[in-house]
Amino acid sequence: MVTLSRDGKPVIKAEALVTYELALGPTWNRFFEGLKEEKILGNRCPRCRRVLVPARTFCPRCFVDMGEWLEVAQEGELVGWSLTEIEYFGMPTPPPFVTAFVTLDGADCKFMHLLGGIDLSGIDVVRKQIWNGMRVRIVWNEDKNGTIMDIKHFAPAG
Ligand SMILES: [Zn+2]
Repeated sequence: MVTLSRDGKPVIKAEALVTYELALGPTWNRFFEGLKEEKILGNRCPRCRRVLVPARTFCPRCFVDMGEWLEVAQEGELVGWSLTEIEYFGMPTPPPFVTAFVTLDGADCKFMHLLGGIDLSGIDVVRKQIWNGMRVRIVWNEDKNGTIMDIKHFAPAG
């Protein structure tokens, strides 16, 4: 579709859907294989000693290859969250849903996934059930195929 810009020049506006494939590589492949076995795998930077989850090929802070692999806990601290109520293209699940940022015990970075097991009927309802600093745990899907959705969601722990 041709429209005019603010200064009167013709502009073509269109959307393009680009199909692509991404080779996971050995690091992400190992991480996703771990999910099939209900393991959350990270690795430790040999320089700054941070444990990054999901595992990385190199430390983005030190620019050195990551070292030791290790399994971190399936429980951690909720450090941020967002309620999505409006549908958009490419979303992981129909709304409403909560996206959670969690520092898993044993990790030094945030891990993002859905947070479920709560009433999602509105922001005021959600605010009464979750808060930064609360403990959450991973809930696994029964069927696993080596994707991030092998994790069903986080849920309040205990
Ligand atoms: Zn580092």
